[in-house]
Amino acid sequence: MQTSPKSPQSSKAHPAGRWLYPRPEGLFCEPGGFYVDPNKPVDKAVITHGHADHARRGHGAVLATPETIAIMKLRYGEDCAGVFQHIDYGQTVSVNGVNIRIVPAGHILGSAQVVLEHNATRVVVSGDYKRVFDPTCEPFELVPCDVFVTEATFALPVFRHEPAVKEARRLIESVRQQPERTHMLGVYGLGKCQRMIALLRQAGFEETIHLHGALVELTQFYEQRGFTMGSWRPIGKDSSGQRQDYAGQLVMCPPSAISDRWSRRFPDPATAFASGWMRVRGRARQYGVELPLIVSDHADWPELIATIKETGAEEVWVTHGREDALVHQLGLMGIPARALALVGFDDEGE
Ligand SMILES: [Zn+2]
Ligand SMILES: [Zn+2]
Repeated sequence: MQTSPKSPQSSKAHPAGRWLYPRPEGLFCEPGGFYVDPNKPVDKAVITHGHADHARRGHGAVLATPETIAIMKLRYGEDCAGVFQHIDYGQTVSVNGVNIRIVPAGHILGSAQVVLEHNATRVVVSGDYKRVFDPTCEPFELVPCDVFVTEATFALPVFRHEPAVKEARRLIESVRQQPERTHMLGVYGLGKCQRMIALLRQAGFEETIHLHGALVELTQFYEQRGFTMGSWRPIGKDSSGQRQDYAGQLVMCPPSAISDRWSRRFPDPATAFASGWMRVRGRARQYGVELPLIVSDHADWPELIATIKETGAEEVWVTHGREDALVHQLGLMGIPARALALVGFDDEGE
């Protein structure tokens, strides 16, 4: 397809757009009658992973990996969808002439890319993804395709994540150098929390890690799935009235807890936050973070560009994040791209 690099938006739409296109509820596959990660309850949904902006409750039928289904049930209850159908990595199911195959996305435990084939065209809906090694999930699998549907959470050249183990070491060093303080690490509960624990262990941190109550269930879930987290303990409500001394200890909590009342129980807390957003100083300041750790479960700018090129896609559709910047860059590279303008996504996993 010949396109002027200056006007990617004006390119003639790819034929796949006739059977897979955005609706107000989300990306819809017409012959299959299903949505991928819809933002409202629908009859049939394929869910890429368990983060709340992708996996919602109330669908009639859900097709997802066993891990994603288990995470949905854990967070929303057993009856959060009418019917669940498991699909394992590498497996294919056919719905009205559409082949649906699921491959790992490397984002969090159970996260999947949805490979759709219809009319001799292959579209890969990648969901959220990253390429770097993560000990808590299956690695991203590259699938060559005609149309690649990508996220754009960190689609600005400024976003370059640091090697994750290096960031874990910086935190450990800070804990060791300030034994009188409690270190509070802000992490999202699904994925980032368990990855940071695994990274800290990999970097040689063997002490007990104290977990905010909101992080406990999902961490237990990872352990049930065979991931070792080492020694950790929930922070109780302190019913005994005994104030435990957390000096020199590492506490992990949801990012919002860093600055709320909950944090005041700790002596002279040193605050850290593990997120791709920590590349931006203003964000770190906004959260009151002393030690920003640039660790992300999303692809950074070079990873996004490299992945798109490697898929060999003739056209790229961008779901959520910095769509404009990515569409513009791909235009400069001569790859037709368009923003799907899907609504309802945020950055829970970050
Ligand atoms: Zn997302
Ligand atoms: Zn996610």
